[in-house]
Amino acid sequence: MKKFVILVFIFTGFIVSAQDHHCAMESHMEEMMKDPHFAREWELQQQQFKQSVKQNLGANFRQQIMDEIVIPVAVHFPSGLESDRACLEALAQNQVDILNGDFTATNPDSNLWNTAAQFYPGVIHGVANVQFCIATSNHPTATDDDLVEGGPAVTIGYDFGGGSDADNAWSGYMNFLVKDIGGSVLGYSPLGGSINAGQSVVINTYAFGSGTGCSASGIVPGGGSNLGRTTTHELGHFFNLQHTFSGSCASDDGIADTPNIVNPNYGCPAPGSIAGCESGEFALTMSYMDYGNDPCLYMFSQGQTDVMDTYVGILQSQFKPNTIPVCVQIPEYIITNGSVTSCNGLFYDSGGAGDATDPGQYTNNEVYTYTICPEGPGQSTQLVFSEFQTQNNTDVMSIYNASDASDPATLIGEFSGTNSPGTVAATLTNTSGCLTIVFTSNEFNTDLGWEAFISCINPPAECQTIVAQLDSASPAPNDEGIILVCQGESITLNGSGQFSEAGGGTGAAYQWDIGDGTTISGQSATFSFDAPGVYIANLNIWDTNTTVFPEGCKNDNKINQVIRVSTTPDISASDDTATSICYGDSSTITAVVTPTPYINECTPPESNVTFLPDGNGDVYNTCIVVDCFESDQTLEDISQIIDICLNIEHSYLGDLDIIIVSPNGQQAYLHQYDIFSSGGGTFLGAPIDDESTTPGTGADYCFSANATSLLVNGPTIMAGNPAGLSIAPGTYLPQQSFNQLVGSPLNGNWCIKVVDNIPIDNGYIFSWGINFDSSIVPPNQSFTPDIVSSVWSDDPTITDVNGDTISIS
Ligand SMILES: [Zn+2]
Repeated sequence: MKKFVILVFIFTGFIVSAQDHHCAMESHMEEMMKDPHFAREWELQQQQFKQSVKQNLGANFRQQIMDEIVIPVAVHFPSGLESDRACLEALAQNQVDILNGDFTATNPDSNLWNTAAQFYPGVIHGVANVQFCIATSNHPTATDDDLVEGGPAVTIGYDFGGGSDADNAWSGYMNFLVKDIGGSVLGYSPLGGSINAGQSVVINTYAFGSGTGCSASGIVPGGGSNLGRTTTHELGHFFNLQHTFSGSCASDDGIADTPNIVNPNYGCPAPGSIAGCESGEFALTMSYMDYGNDPCLYMFSQGQTDVMDTYVGILQSQFKPNTIPVCVQIPEYIITNGSVTSCNGLFYDSGGAGDATDPGQYTNNEVYTYTICPEGPGQSTQLVFSEFQTQNNTDVMSIYNASDASDPATLIGEFSGTNSPGTVAATLTNTSGCLTIVFTSNEFNTDLGWEAFISCINPPAECQTIVAQLDSASPAPNDEGIILVCQGESITLNGSGQFSEAGGGTGAAYQWDIGDGTTISGQSATFSFDAPGVYIANLNIWDTNTTVFPEGCKNDNKINQVIRVSTTPDISASDDTATSICYGDSSTITAVVTPTPYINECTPPESNVTFLPDGNGDVYNTCIVVDCFESDQTLEDISQIIDICLNIEHSYLGDLDIIIVSPNGQQAYLHQYDIFSSGGGTFLGAPIDDESTTPGTGADYCFSANATSLLVNGPTIMAGNPAGLSIAPGTYLPQQSFNQLVGSPLNGNWCIKVVDNIPIDNGYIFSWGINFDSSIVPPNQSFTPDIVSSVWSDDPTITDVNGDTISIS
């Protein structure tokens, strides 16, 4: 080993090493060099490199490059899951953090060199003048649609390079391509890579980053490559570093300060334990460019970082500009009593991240409550736990879906031992978007604690599922589920909601719609009805999530609690009851109680006759009251109107507008007046066409969206007096589609509006009705009350009471 650190890079070509698959750089290069175009480009870049080395030798090289070169990084997970983005982005940042530590001698285990250095006189732990930053701006287009300005250049599911290791769209970046390359190959890289060519450093799925990785995407660091140093090693190749071993003492890695050795070293050799080619020298087994396990690799030599700095100096002009407005260093948050607003960070137990010398355990008797809130409105905090280990059952983390831990209903779960929370996020109904973490440890034993990635998610605009339910009722429903009461009798309903999200019911609003147009706020409602009938009570619930609906998300089920309010029975005396007796005589009276049926028709036909006098633009209305639907029920589709039928006679169809008007004023022409083409003197039905107002005979004309012919085009028959052509009764297409009515409330006044546009001629609507599809019409709610009890009012004349019969005197 030379005693001076001098750049004497004598490399003239790559060297294919022995049958070794740990790093596939050599075989990768051998394959690439078969391409003459690549080979030429590569040779040119190497010549440029050697030129730079010569220049560097003539100057105080390291003082020249005081300003670190910022390297825009892009990370690609072609087999990753977009749903795993938060984890993969954090893993990418984790790997970049590792690189920044390893390349600048600020790695957490760099202290190991302090004791190892004695075996390597003159070797200095090198510091490269580089900083790796994941690009966040000016992303290339048409690669991964999920990349956003300000977000990291981490592609997920993007077919980088169409399966190759270079992608022109990602020219200008230091690309890391994480994919399954099979077998025991941890990774590979070009030796002296090209940024212009969009080349990448390829890392196997089990050798990228540290921690527990992102298992859903199958990216899990493990084995001896669990600290992200495969990327450090391969990046060394990309920056023109050879392995420290060269296969022969006759050759060398071209770097002055690394002892010449023949073979790679595996596992974790003790410093100074492997002899080098030169007497008294030892293999620099802790160099990232050897083959040891990650925990036993912790340095580049200064000769190595000089080579890389020189090479990066050549690459510098190839880096795409404006990709890194801010180089993100992922902040770390240690649990304490307090809170933080963050959408990017690592959350640790009180022992912090830990490193090779300090595992970073939490302490005994901790009680911390820590709230993590998102930076933007409408965002939700998400924690992805990559490590979790506490003393089982005694050192417990509780996570609340809220900005504090006051409401037990917001508790998401309690975690201890190795029962990791995994991925936890604030839900939609939690409008704060915060998560609150309570950690308590007992007085015995500690453990490693946890690491969690903090990110923010924009929750999809969705409502949770809210199910309203009736908890109790007084009077209780009968066997059929119907509440039976008398007029004026008090009814109390108590209801609640089931919410699909933890704590989703916090702050919810409750309202009873008791079916007569009245609403009562609160979970409990007490009320009575003065009028007999059938009332359908429902509980409406709104949560506090206003992201979808301004008033909050509502339950979509209906309790439909039927309440029957009895009619007034008819009471009379039996026929054999004496109607007159003499003073002092006695008699018996037998009362006969007859229940009065309650008839509920949903859309009763209008039975009153509507006279349609002749007019000159005069308007006549005939309306029916529809009241059997639920108060907020609307016409959703024209198929819900089967037909509208009129029994009508008129002596001049050409006179008329016939219009159906919905309860809120939406309308559709059934027949439309037109001076030339609306039917002229054709009759409807059988009118008496003598200018008298004597009613003729109506005929049934229905209007349906399923008909094919307009009324005016209908077939004619002879009818009326004197007889004339009359449109045949039948079903006709309305002039305007019933679509005009969609959205209208169903309950209310539905009216037929007739406009008589021309003087002379008159007519009658004898009846009309509207038929709704049976699927939306509630079941017939007609009923006849049972007589449950009857009593006679006290009176001094009553001498005996025997059921419904009394004796009087
Ligand atoms: Zn290698």
